[in-house]
This record gives sequence, C-alpha cells and structure tokens, in this order.
Amino acid sequence: DTIGAQLDRTAARFPDREALVVVHQDVRWSYDRLRRESDAFAAGLIALGLKPGDRIGIWSQNNVEWVVTQFATAKAGLILVNINPAYRLHELEFAVNKVGCAALILSPVFKQSDYIGMMRTLAPELETCRPGALRSVRLPELRVVIRMGEEKTPGMLNFAEIPGLADETHRTRLIEIGRTLQFDDPINIQFTSGTTGRPKGATLTHHNILNNGYFVAEGIRVTEVDRMCIPVPFYHCFGMVMGNLGAITHGACMVIPGEGFDAERVLQTVQQERCTSLYGVPTMFVALLNHPDFNRYDVSSLRTGIMAGSPCPIEVMRQVMDRLHMPQITIAYGMTETSPVSFQCAVDDSVDRRVSTVGRIHPHVEAKVVDPQGRIVPRGVSGELLARGYSVMRGYWGEEDLTRQAIDSGRWMHTGDLAVIDAEGYCNIVGRIKDMVIRGGENIYPREVEEFLYRHPKIRDIQVFGIPDRQYGEQLCAWVVLKDDEDMTEADLISFCVGEIAHYKIPKVIRFVEAFPMTATGKIQKFVMRKMMIEELQ
Ligand code: ATP
Ligand code: MG
Repeated sequence: DTIGAQLDRTAARFPDREALVVVHQDVRWSYDRLRRESDAFAAGLIALGLKPGDRIGIWSQNNVEWVVTQFATAKAGLILVNINPAYRLHELEFAVNKVGCAALILSPVFKQSDYIGMMRTLAPELETCRPGALRSVRLPELRVVIRMGEEKTPGMLNFAEIPGLADETHRTRLIEIGRTLQFDDPINIQFTSGTTGRPKGATLTHHNILNNGYFVAEGIRVTEVDRMCIPVPFYHCFGMVMGNLGAITHGACMVIPGEGFDAERVLQTVQQERCTSLYGVPTMFVALLNHPDFNRYDVSSLRTGIMAGSPCPIEVMRQVMDRLHMPQITIAYGMTETSPVSFQCAVDDSVDRRVSTVGRIHPHVEAKVVDPQGRIVPRGVSGELLARGYSVMRGYWGEEDLTRQAIDSGRWMHTGDLAVIDAEGYCNIVGRIKDMVIRGGENIYPREVEEFLYRHPKIRDIQVFGIPDRQYGEQLCAWVVLKDDEDMTEADLISFCVGEIAHYKIPKVIRFVEAFPMTATGKIQKFVMRKMMIEELQ
C-alpha cells in the first residue's frame, strides 16, 4: 500500500475527526481537510514540473507545512529528503547535492537563524532567476526553492502559492500517479542522526515506513480516539514515521506542541489538548520530569507513549510511568535504516520487562545476535544485533560501499549495536559496538556504569565513554549533570562506586557539566565528548 492511499482511506473513514493540531500555528484540521490540503499541494508540485522519483528536500522545524509536504510528496511520488534544521551551509550543500534535490522547501527562520539568508549565500543566482528555474553553481541540480511564510524573496516561490499553480490537468495527473505508484517505490531519504559521525541518507519505501508506523502504533494500542503529542522532530523517523504515520494508519490525531522541543510547552499541550500518548527520546522525558513547574500541570489524560532513540534508563522509565501518568509506555528500539523500529515491548508485558528491555521482535521482522565471526551466539550472550525483513532500507543513497557494509548478502542489516536476547525473546541493548571500552583487556559497557550511577540521588544525567589511556589502552570518563542546587565532588562520586561496581568500571576522569553535546534530535554525541577530552588531556 502507499502512504497516499492510506491517507485517503483514513479520511474517507473519519472525515470529521481531528487529524492535526499544531499549537504554535493555531491549526486544527480534520482528516478531510488534511487530505484536501495535501492533494492541493501535491498538484501544485506537479505543476512545477516535478516528477515521480524526483528528490525534494525540506529544511525546517516541525510545523503544518512539514506535514502537508510529507503527505503531498508521498501522493505525487516524490522522494522527500528530510534535512535537519540544525544543518548549516556546508551540510545543506552536502545533503542537497548528495541526493540531487530538484526542489527545496525551507522555513524563513528558526531559533534566530536566517534560513533564507543562508540559502541565498549558497545560491546567489536566486537574486536574478525566475522562481522555479534556478541554475546554481554550488547546487547544480536544484531548480525550485519554496519558502514558508508570507514575505516574498527573489527567486523563491511561497509555500502558500503552490496549490494555485495547479489546474485540472495537474489534478488528473495526480490521480494517475496515485494509480501507478507501487508500495515498494522509494518515498523518503532520511539522514541518520549523526551520533557516531557523518549522517548517512537511508532510502526508504512506502512499504518500509508505512508498515512500521502502523506496527509501532499497534504496539501501544492506538485507536482513533488517541491524541498523540509529538514533540520529536519530523525530520527524523521518530516524528514522521512513529508519530505521523502511526497516527494516520489509525485515525488518531497528531498534536504538535511547537517547532522544537520545549518542556513547558509540551506539558501545557498535554494538559490543554488532553493528549493520550507522548513520544520522546530519554533526554526529553528527563527534562519534563525535572521541570520546576511539573506539578502544576495536569497530565492525567496520558495513557501511553514511546521512549526510544537512545538507551532508556530504568529509573527514568519508572518515573515516566508514575509521575507522567503513562502506565502503558513502552520502549522501542530501532534505527533509521530499519524504518525505524524492530523491537518494542507490549503494553501488557510486566513493568520490570518494560523498564529494563526493549521488548521482543516486531511482527514480520527477524533478528539474530552474532559474534564477530558471524556465528549466532546462545541466548543470554551478547553480540551484534542483525535484523532482516520488510523494514530494511533499500540502501544508503549513492553509497554502494557503505550499503554493502551495512546489509550483507543474506539481506541482514548490521545494526552496530550490541544486544542480548533472553530465552523468552526479550532484548537488551547493551550499547553500541563503537562505544564499547576495552580497558586493559576488560570489556566495559558504558551503559552498565551509567545505569548504576543514575541511582545517585544528586545526578540528573550521566554519560560514560572511553578515552585513550597510556597504561590501559582505554579508560572510562564520566560527564555528570547534577540536579538543580546540588553539588558533588569527584571523590563523592568515586566513593559511591567503590565496593558496588568492579574497580575497573569506576570512571577515572570525571567532569561536572551543564549539558552534553547533542544532535538536533536530542541524541547525545559521545564522539564529540571524547574528542573534547582528548584535546583537554593532551
Ligand atoms: P548515526 O548512525 O548517524 O551515527 P544514529 O545511529 O544515532 O546516528 P539513528 O538511526 O537515529 O541514528 O539511531 C539509531 C541508533 O539509536 C541505534 O543504532 C541505537 O544505537 C540507538 N537506539 C535507538 N533506540 C534505542 C533504545 N531503545 N535503546 C538503546 N539504544 C537505542
Ligand atoms: Mg546509526
């Protein structure tokens, strides 16, 4: 099935149900309205000469335009390229050229950054070109630049004027495209988060992401009465697949609290919109729970939600269940390359399982855990997690070598994550292979040390990683964020560990910091911390 066909079906079934609420833009659309707006925008894109298979980038934070673009491009058979709004000139140029975008949609400003200005620096030719007919030296394949907002910018079209470009022939063409699109046509190129290095563009099909969105929402028993609060970014699979596609496959309502994550706004939105589910990476939940006004908000409408994207500390999960009123929250595990989710707990799994594992394998996906020689390890033993099934991407766009390294000849996706699967099939993510620390021959999983230190009442957040060491090859370094008004010394932290964990797992270098370096998706970049420590200790 295709994403466009799914939207049409849901709109036919629930025409008047609320589909989309965008709080900061005062948008409140029914399913019928969402379908009409998406069709109108799709016809306009066709009028601009864009054809099925063409790539179209979107460089923006969360807003209504993003949602319209997502569904319009799916209907017109265009391949949507999610471009992180944190990208700057160099990265934008790389992404647009890497996949050969014919069109780019951008937001005027976000967090004080002038996107229009950056675009014009990259393509000064916009100044004199006819809108839709750009010829640029640095962005040779880009023809069409569309900006959001009311103002006019030379060389660019306005988002709002696109539907008006279409006439009857374009609308007929849209219907024809709908009939010929195939479920396994590529629909999306999503860049990975860049947690471990340069982001890679995963090519995904309707079949990949529509089914995954469906199964993830099934996993937390979403129905048309649900109202999902989605503070996670759309330019990442968490927002656009687990959020938006999860919603439209079930007739639920997408509630967008703001253009980026803001703890207070999320709490307000949950209360005002009576949201029933809430999505986030662990750092977002930590921020919500620690918000000074947390107790002022009524979050009792919440029932469920998903925590995913990075290791989910047990203590945080417990608090989310209790204090955030999400007894049915589950953890999901996945990666952009697998659309994304491949493991998820069920809402009726025991609380212990739900706080401490990523659950069992998703429907229609296979998994195995292997040793470095590729042999399957016994249950309960850790090794690299491999996944196979409908959800595995086509490949990295324009990166055949990288694709071959990631997906083997048996079609298994090598996740790069270390996992243990127990006798009943519950999976534990031990860490990333790249993050494993080998100190004098002892393998240390930083995750284990983090889980232990999380129990310290003064610690709000903690990251542990390896740094080079002359004597031991590698040593552990810990970065600690303390709770407000708390203080603590290195010696306090060490004495908390002594006698509780093996001596070689006690961090040797400790830093108290205000925050961690993060990707714009809220994922913590250990490689950046490692680099900073190496420079500092030199
Ligand atoms: P890059 O591949 O560019 O370095 P990334 O791997 O962070 O970045 P994503 O595809 O967004 O990009 O994230 C997938 C990764 O996130 C997984 O490989 C895994 O390491 C981690 N992850 C996701 N969910 C969980 C989870 N529930 N528990 C532990 N780790 C998780
Ligand atoms: Mg990755």
